[in-house]
Amino acid sequence: MNSPRKFFRAAVALYFITLIHACNCHYADGMGYDFLWPVQADLLTSDVSPSICPSPNQYYFISLFGPRFKRVEYMGGVSYYDFHQGEDITANVTIDGHRYSSDPTNFYPLLCACNGMVDEVIDEDSGEQGRTVRIRCKQKFREFEDDTIYIKYSHLSEINPNVTAYSSITKADTIGFVGASGNTTLVHLHFSVQRKIGPSHFDNVHPMRLYRPTDAPHISTELTDFSVERLPINEGSVVLRFAIPHNQVNIRSILLVFNSHCGARVSLIDFEKISAGYATRDNPSPVEGLTLFPYRFIRSKNAYATITEEFDQIPANYPIQIFPITQSGVYNECRYILDIKCHNESLDMAASVNFADARINVMLYDIWGNMIEREL
Ligand SMILES: [Zn+2]
Repeated sequence: MNSPRKFFRAAVALYFITLIHACNCHYADGMGYDFLWPVQADLLTSDVSPSICPSPNQYYFISLFGPRFKRVEYMGGVSYYDFHQGEDITANVTIDGHRYSSDPTNFYPLLCACNGMVDEVIDEDSGEQGRTVRIRCKQKFREFEDDTIYIKYSHLSEINPNVTAYSSITKADTIGFVGASGNTTLVHLHFSVQRKIGPSHFDNVHPMRLYRPTDAPHISTELTDFSVERLPINEGSVVLRFAIPHNQVNIRSILLVFNSHCGARVSLIDFEKISAGYATRDNPSPVEGLTLFPYRFIRSKNAYATITEEFDQIPANYPIQIFPITQSGVYNECRYILDIKCHNESLDMAASVNFADARINVMLYDIWGNMIEREL
């Protein structure tokens, strides 16, 4: 490796690091929008396995924005990874002392999060999303060139008859009721936040953009802790295993910088960019040289182990033969686990890294701009 090229790579690495630091202004979004949380739950229903994990977060959110492991029973037990484009909220909550559940006579109402206009109503129990209402809010994103904010509610059991396309709507109006319409068997709200990209095309962004951590302190807090472990495979690949506390899984991006004697390589995993079109259900790992292996969003401390006991649930391309997943250590805690396999496959030689000796800097950003860096 000649040194000008090495110098150039280091300069590129520094440029990217500077760029991402500059982009992550603290509370650039999420501050002062004054959105209402769509489910006004004070407490979670207390009998939902409270003894297993201390944080209520993992009962409240069924699935978060980002890469997830999914097992689809009705397709014959097929497992796959996908990139979840919103936040799924449980049917089991307590609101003003009343306990709601997945019993159809006991569904909770969904509240409009903003003042605005009804943009679209799909009142059919069909398709991926089922009964869906999209609201065009009066507010605009600050970070997306003044794009208007849209909020979408999916899988509803029933839509409020007053909620019709192009009618105006007020914050806290009832949009309808939680349900399981569309392609799901589980009663829940799929809550997504969008920006309009084309005449009928929307990109999903991280829903927590619209909220401060203090808007829902019992379910989500700022990033203060995570662990990452280095699981070496060979010179050409390594796995980084992230373990993030349940109430801090508001990931905006992960920046990886690999420094080895061959030079430096920078990989940026931007969750919103992935959501905006890089990813498909079968390929949720669109960043070249990286493969994401998320695990089921764990609602018990043993769920990670549960997956390892059911080997058929682990996709074939996971490098399990090299380091078996164990039930020990941090994985027995209530964490979101994400394995990222970093490899030289599909990369040209100039970008390849010797993973056996590379020093790796890991920077994890949450949606509010908090960053924690670890060196491995
Ligand atoms: Zn969902």
